[in-house]
Amino acid sequence: MQELIEKYNIKKLFYKRYFEENAKQRLRMEMLAFLLFKNGRFINPMKKEEFLKTYVKEEIENFYKKKELNIPQIEFCITTKCTLKCKDCCALIPKFNKYKHINMSFEEYKLYLDRILENVNSIRHFVLLGGETLINQDLAKMIEYTCNLEKINIVELITNGTMKFPNDLITELKRNNKKVYVYISNYSVNSELQSILKHQQQIIDTLKENNIKYQMAENREWVREMGFADTPSDKITTEERMHFKCFRTQCNQVLNGYIDICSKAATARELNLLDIKDSVDIVNSWDLKEDLINFYQNDYIDGCKYCILSSEKIMPAIQEKEEI
Ligand code: SF4
Ligand code: SF4
Repeated sequence: MQELIEKYNIKKLFYKRYFEENAKQRLRMEMLAFLLFKNGRFINPMKKEEFLKTYVKEEIENFYKKKELNIPQIEFCITTKCTLKCKDCCALIPKFNKYKHINMSFEEYKLYLDRILENVNSIRHFVLLGGETLINQDLAKMIEYTCNLEKINIVELITNGTMKFPNDLITELKRNNKKVYVYISNYSVNSELQSILKHQQQIIDTLKENNIKYQMAENREWVREMGFADTPSDKITTEERMHFKCFRTQCNQVLNGYIDICSKAATARELNLLDIKDSVDIVNSWDLKEDLINFYQNDYIDGCKYCILSSEKIMPAIQEKEEI
């Protein structure tokens, strides 16, 4: 591997954020496709490291020789509206109020997704989320459209499990049940949420009845959300954030026509909480492919410079008591 790194003079951060992350997501999705949909081949978990090495090499050759660009992971935030108001929401969703909410229409969704796909060869891990994703009335259409795209192999739909699934959505999920799966957040340890989570068993039963694959998140603690500092820290590189402090540097998010490093940075840009200049402008970019490559090569990300990270463990989904 060192030979290839030297041959192409690959910067350490670009290697980690782009080549290694693509290899990880490719392997993860292959294993998931076999586990959930019985698609593809069985990969022995004991041989993961071997596969990863091969995939990183292929990714490097494909980038430099074939000029291929693959997106490791991207989340489309299709609504900032939510059924919950979690104090420690890692996307700072409660900071959106009724005048500022963003609800992506199907036309906007198609425009952003088509523009991205025109410029890349594949998206390894594609996620639809919110806010609460099911609030968006165009969700079924979005699922239908995305499941017909060859450059996306698996679609993950994240929900907080508070809303019943409407019939049109069940129909699309069932029709595409070899490509899409539902990921349900798990806040059951928080007894205060019992009444709002009352539909959860019914949701699971409906998914099972319709042969729609789903996964339930582990019931685990959250970490305290600390927001942003007033002044930037120029000492912490994105690489350090990535490896020592924050796994979310890989959770790149589309919100209102821009791609940001994560949902927290996207909210900060959208609500002008910070002066974020390094977002990728999907619609107005002159060369989106080049902008995406620069995005993966950027050593310092504006949002990360201001971001305060905490390791304090807390109960999941503690609710805000007052209106913002
Ligand atoms: S953590 Fe999830 S459920 Fe809670 S406010 Fe944020 S988006 Fe909504
Ligand atoms: S802004 Fe950067 S450091 Fe903060 S959560 Fe997002 S990726 Fe992590």
